[in-house]
Amino acid sequence: MEQALPRLLGNDAQAPCVDGRSRRYVNLDYAASTPVMADVWEAVEAFVPMYSSVHRGTGFKSQVATEAYESARGDVAAFVGARSSDDVVFVRNTTEAINVLSASLPEGARVLSTPVEHHANMLPWRRHDVDLLPFTRSPRGLLDVAEQRLRSGRYNLLAVTGASNVTGEVWPVAELARIAHRYGTKLFVDAAQLAPHRAIDMAASGIDLLAFSGHKLYAPFGAGALVGRLGAGSPLLHGGGAIKLVTVDDITWADAPERYEAGSPNVIGVVALAAACRRLREVGMDAVAAHERRLATRLWSGLVTVPGLQTLSLWPGAPDRVGVATFNLDGHRDEHLATMLSAEYAIGVRHGCFCAHPLMTRLLSVPDATAERLHAELKAGGSPEMPGAVRASIGLGTTAADVDALVDALYEIVQRGARHAVAA
Ligand code: PMP
Repeated sequence: MEQALPRLLGNDAQAPCVDGRSRRYVNLDYAASTPVMADVWEAVEAFVPMYSSVHRGTGFKSQVATEAYESARGDVAAFVGARSSDDVVFVRNTTEAINVLSASLPEGARVLSTPVEHHANMLPWRRHDVDLLPFTRSPRGLLDVAEQRLRSGRYNLLAVTGASNVTGEVWPVAELARIAHRYGTKLFVDAAQLAPHRAIDMAASGIDLLAFSGHKLYAPFGAGALVGRLGAGSPLLHGGGAIKLVTVDDITWADAPERYEAGSPNVIGVVALAAACRRLREVGMDAVAAHERRLATRLWSGLVTVPGLQTLSLWPGAPDRVGVATFNLDGHRDEHLATMLSAEYAIGVRHGCFCAHPLMTRLLSVPDATAERLHAELKAGGSPEMPGAVRASIGLGTTAADVDALVDALYEIVQRGARHAVAA
């Protein structure tokens, strides 16, 4: 029998609007951070009285907490279909996971990536020898250029997103893994936007390494995970818990995962993350994806009917997209539009460049000269008007009424403009 989707907390919140009335808060900002799943909150509440330090205490609570922390690795591994040889390293979030992975690679490692990535999957690689593939017009195009570059056999790692946080296209990661492996390259997938919306099977699809964040997976308690075989690289953080022995002039590092988890870990965050993984596995990510696909289709088909609205996409007609729609509306700056949606309609969206400047520069056709001017002005301490767009994103708790609220609001804005002066 099909399981009901998990309940989220705060879905009935009211938001004050500029006309003095309160309205039901319409959350269309799942891609930034999700609400808390009720099961996650219950797991946290149940665990909190037993909270204690992990690993080095012999006290009862320490044993219980250690068991909770260590068994969470299994829940995360099962959620992403990891192999038994994969490590699960707990980190704060995807950004930290990628920094941990990058630091663990040998100096001078050769990384191939793309200009579509979130800055979290871009900047950490710059400590190595990184090349970027060109923008492509389709998944097929991506596979072709990836194969052309990988054929050189010079790359240790191919680092790509699982789904774009700006446009939502799901990347052909299984095909990329096959190509990468053919030329001796490992595949890393930034699954921050994929893990909450699609089933992931690392073993079946050949993903070697993967990262995701709890706060985008209904467990916003400050934990995320890096999964894969990390081996004996350099740990990003140096400190207690990551070592076997320290003398005044020598260190014997622990093996993974402890090697990469120096310092006291976020035990409650990890308990929360594991609870989300367990519940989502129970429900089945295919059921989650089916629910979200229905609503995403409603969102995209509603938005294209709004006069003067342009949606951004990397691969028009892509075979699969998570529920993200990024758009601009004629006559409105992104910041102004997002502020109006919140102030007048209680609709929460995001605006700006979504930590993906190279991609947004491309999607908005920002001329090189403009990008250079913006850089110069920012470096000189100025605050120039930045290009951007508005992003609506959906998740487990989204309803058809939420989607319709956005589309109706946009129609009203087109017809009447701002009802109130909104400082933006
Ligand atoms: N990658 C992608 C695709 C993202 O969308 C995000 C978050 N917006 C990140 C990485 C970084 O995630 P976090 O802020 O949780 O580290």
